[in-house]
Amino acid sequence: MKLKFHDEGQGVTSIETHFQRPGLACCYLIQSAGEAALIDTGTARTTDNIMQLLALTGLAPSQVRYVIPTHVHLDHAGGAGQLMQRLPEAELVMHHYGARHMIDPSKIAAGSAAVYGDEEFAKQFVALLPIDERRVIKAHDGMRIELGKRELHCFDTPGHARHHICIMDQQSRGIFSGDTFGLAYPELTTERGPFMVLPATPTQFDPASWHQTLDRLMALQPACMYLTHYGSVENPPALAPVLHAEIDAYVAIAKPYAGTENPVDELEQALWCHFRKRLDAHGNRQEFAEQERLLGMDVRLCAQGLQAWLQSAMG
Ligand SMILES: [Zn+2]
Repeated sequence: MKLKFHDEGQGVTSIETHFQRPGLACCYLIQSAGEAALIDTGTARTTDNIMQLLALTGLAPSQVRYVIPTHVHLDHAGGAGQLMQRLPEAELVMHHYGARHMIDPSKIAAGSAAVYGDEEFAKQFVALLPIDERRVIKAHDGMRIELGKRELHCFDTPGHARHHICIMDQQSRGIFSGDTFGLAYPELTTERGPFMVLPATPTQFDPASWHQTLDRLMALQPACMYLTHYGSVENPPALAPVLHAEIDAYVAIAKPYAGTENPVDELEQALWCHFRKRLDAHGNRQEFAEQERLLGMDVRLCAQGLQAWLQSAMG
């Protein structure tokens, strides 16, 4: 894979993970005073590029102190095992609910194969390597991490997943939000700004928690959000209301299908109807095929996630 990265300023670099298509998922390198941390890892196919970037930046592998996947979903943490093998001094920081899946990845592998399908899973995820328990720090809400001259604060941020943390960097006042602050693909940005998409990925979509989490993140008065999908976005207070509205819209879309057996195709159609209206209102002029190329997988995953939510909320 070709190394592709972007200097986000303030000692933060985003790195293309080459997950599914360019521009879909990135991860981040943060540096301060000769120490470095990685936020999210991409998959095992990203590891070589991360090591190349370290070399290019003049950092030895031993200078990376922390690898911090925001949550265990494999576009965020799938390469953690491979990366930890190449970074001898690094410790892995993971939400305390997710840590055991990093130490023994067999369960998460089975779950992801179920979500993505065996063929796609084999193509994207390579082998998931276990990480030595002694190198894993279980993150809890409010935990502080010193990195050179900067300080990172971890927050427990349920909504997208129960095992999700966001990391606020005190220097840039930016928050590494994983999937919690939604997705914004650059191709969908118009003169109205980034097009925010709420990823209700299976199986832990939790509307009430997500609303609370967004309020908590906004109370921190972040200057920007470093999204995994894709890159940094400015002016979070202007974007948070869109995400709140999307949580409510998803619930309204899903509710009529409560009690319906396997409504995933109907949910997908209803979501597309919703997204087409939103894209149009956002000034998007792309052909539907292009919109589908950019959002198709996410809409499908949202439909599956809403179905899982209906089952758990009603069950
Ligand atoms: Zn996720």
